[in-house]
Parts: sequence; structure tokens; C-alpha cells
Amino acid sequence: MTLKEAVSARQEELLRSLQESIRIPSAEGPAEEGAPYGREVRRCLDHALATAEALGLTCGRMDQQVGWCEYGDGEEMVAVVGHLDVVPAGEGWTFDPFGGEIRDGKVFGRGAMDDKGPTVAAMYALAALRDTGLPLRRRIRLLLGTNEETGSQDMKYYRAHGGELPVLGFTPDGEYPVINGEKGIINATFRKTYCQTGPVRLTRLTGGSAPNVTPASAAAEIACPPETAAEIAARSAEKVRCTATDTGVLVEALGVSAHGSTPELGENAIGRLMAFLKGVPLSGGAAEAVAFLADRLGMETDGASLGIALEDDVSGKLTLNWGTAEADEGALSLCINYRYPVTKRFEDCAPQLEAAFREAGFTLEKQVHKPSLYVPEDSELVQTLLAVYARETGLPARPLSIGGGTYAKALPNVVAFGPIFPGDEVREHKPDEFIEVEKLMKNAQIIAEAMYQLAK
Ligand SMILES: [Zn+2]
Repeated sequence: MTLKEAVSARQEELLRSLQESIRIPSAEGPAEEGAPYGREVRRCLDHALATAEALGLTCGRMDQQVGWCEYGDGEEMVAVVGHLDVVPAGEGWTFDPFGGEIRDGKVFGRGAMDDKGPTVAAMYALAALRDTGLPLRRRIRLLLGTNEETGSQDMKYYRAHGGELPVLGFTPDGEYPVINGEKGIINATFRKTYCQTGPVRLTRLTGGSAPNVTPASAAAEIACPPETAAEIAARSAEKVRCTATDTGVLVEALGVSAHGSTPELGENAIGRLMAFLKGVPLSGGAAEAVAFLADRLGMETDGASLGIALEDDVSGKLTLNWGTAEADEGALSLCINYRYPVTKRFEDCAPQLEAAFREAGFTLEKQVHKPSLYVPEDSELVQTLLAVYARETGLPARPLSIGGGTYAKALPNVVAFGPIFPGDEVREHKPDEFIEVEKLMKNAQIIAEAMYQLAK
């Protein structure tokens, strides 16, 4: 029996297991004894391990954070990293999000593509590989994560508690052909306090909903005498609207929303608002804060005016998204989400950014950093995966570099490989998430072959 035949032979069981898994609504819930991410996540992990056990794979788990099943007995371990937790169903479904219904050759349900489909496919791929009896030099471990969607605390726990690390591995939680570069991501929150003494005061400012989304709207309230309000309102600007209020004027700016990894595709409403406010005769620290933000940040998306415009050949430019801003009479705070090129480091941009803000009187309140990931194209891992992909699909196989972060960052020596093929409709995190049965089986075939090639 060839590996291909062994995988195909398991199609029916694979589909049934995936349906069972989708029927467990494993979005994060309140922590309980023995269920750090809620009881449904625990139930989904139990289900996966019971399935693996029934397939005759060796199973293990660490404190209900991470489970695994493996095959082979080599000293070195190759990992496939999947996750069983999902994002909540949300609104707008025409199918039961936790029904696992198969219609027109598609399995519908939350997690069908992200990431239960590929994870269950990997489990059956591993069983199929075992069925063939092909000799392996390395052991293969399918890691079953439980907290990818809400912080990857599962893998942090696994690493911190001595979980075995792979020599090579991949996560079917990204896209094909293979993602060998992921930018470093930094969320930085700055704050500045000030006194306003003049007759024109900024009393309130709001904009944005999350650091990794380009804000589509922002607004500021200015307290001022009526004649100043009239002057402000008379200054027109594109996509900015002024309305007189009892105490002064309300300024509203519009933008275009975009994902934080591609801010250049949007228009930043907060930046636009700041540019307008720079022309308002505010006083003291508030005026200085507004001028600094308008001049150095504004609607820019590459950090040039802040002195951090990094770039490399592999992943392109540093991107910067000004995600949120908030102000009252006495303080202004903001959060920036920026992503530096894969061959650069935190030290190449974060200290410079902080220094620029510090000079303008801001303090760094909070900073969260996810380092970049880069596995060179000529490495054994990337070359092997590209060759498997090219052979199985006949499609061009060039590695990708992205601005987003995948589960691959959670463990060393791992890259994202599948499950989405070029041109596929992406319904992850959206209503009516699905995976086509044909693509699911194609994934199982590719994963089985990749496991074999990396472990043989
Ligand atoms: Zn995922």
C-alpha cells in the first residue's frame, strides 16, 4: 500500500472525526480545575486524544494545556503543530456553526479550516504513515494546542515546563506554499499628561478599536469661545467634518479600515484628525502633543518620520499602524502596532521609537513584543516542504513572507505550511467557515508526505 492509498483509505473516518470535533464548541471559556481554557476546550482535547488512541498512536498530554500523539521511535522529533480551540461563532451563519454539516462537498462549521480540519487530517496522515510501515529515522509528534486563538499560552506553558522541542516542524495553520518569514510585531502604548490653560482646550478624543486595525473614524471635542468655533468650522479638510456644540466644536474624521499588517491599504482616521487639530489654536502640552503626533506619526504607515523606516529584500518594509487614541483634558494615550522586517531585530526599531516619543514628553506605558521568524529558503525544512508541495500540486512553489503572525512562532524550528491554497476563499473567523472535502484530503496527502520526507 502506498502512502497515498493509505491516506485515501481513511477518508470516511477522518470526516467523521472532524464532524465530531466541530460539534464541540471549543472557544475559550472560564478556567476551571483541569480546564485552563474552559470545559469545552478540555472536552475537545479529550476527544482528539481518544481518537488518536483508537488509531493506535502513542498519546500524551501536559496539564490539559497541550496534548500530542506520535509515531516512530527516533531520538529526534519532527512536529506538526495544530490547535483545537476556535474563535466564537459570531453572527451571520446560514449553517449551524457547531453542526459539522457536509453539503455540496464542503464541511461547514467553526474550526473546519482553522484549525480542526488540518489538525484531524494530520492525525489520520500520521496513522496512514504508520499503516505503510515505511521506515523512519525521526519520531513524528502531532501537537494538539488549545490556546492559539487567544494568546498561545498553551505553547508557552509547554516550553516553560520542558515540553520536547522539534528539530524540524510545521503548522498547518497558515497557507501554502510555505511561510518562511513572519515580521516581528510590537504593540506599544504611550501616554502624555499635560495642562491646558488657554481659552481653546481639547476636552475629549477617541479613535480606533484595536491596535491591529486601521481606524475608520476618530473624533475630538474642543472647548472654545463661539467665534473660535466658527473659525475652526470654516477650515475645511477632506473627510473631516466640524459641528458646533454648546461648548465649542466637535471634529470628526473618517478613514478606511484595514488590517494592522497592511495599513498602507487603509487611511488612518486618527492621523487625519491629528493633522486637522494641528491647525487648531490649542495651548501648552496639548498643542505640543498634537503637533508631534501630526508631524511624526500622522497617516504614515512606514515609520519614516519617526526614524524607523526599515526594509529588507525578504519581507519588504516595516509597517506601522496607529490603532487607537484617547484623550481628555489632562492626558492623551495611544497604541501603535508595528511590524519590522524578518531579518531585522527589536533593537533596530523599538528603542528609536521610544526615544522619539520620550523626547516629546510621552512615556511608554506598555509594550508587547512577538519576535520575527525567519527560516532561510535554502534550509532543509523549507526545501523539503516546497518540494512536497510542488510534487503534490504541480503548482509553483515559492516561499512567502508575511506581516501577520502564525502559530509557527510558538515553537522553534517550525514554519507555517498550509492549509489554504493560493486563490482559496478564506472564511476563517467569519460566518459559514468551511473546508472542501477534496482540499481536506489534499491536505492530508500533503501532510503525510511532508511528515515522511522530514522524518525518513
Ligand atoms: Zn488557527
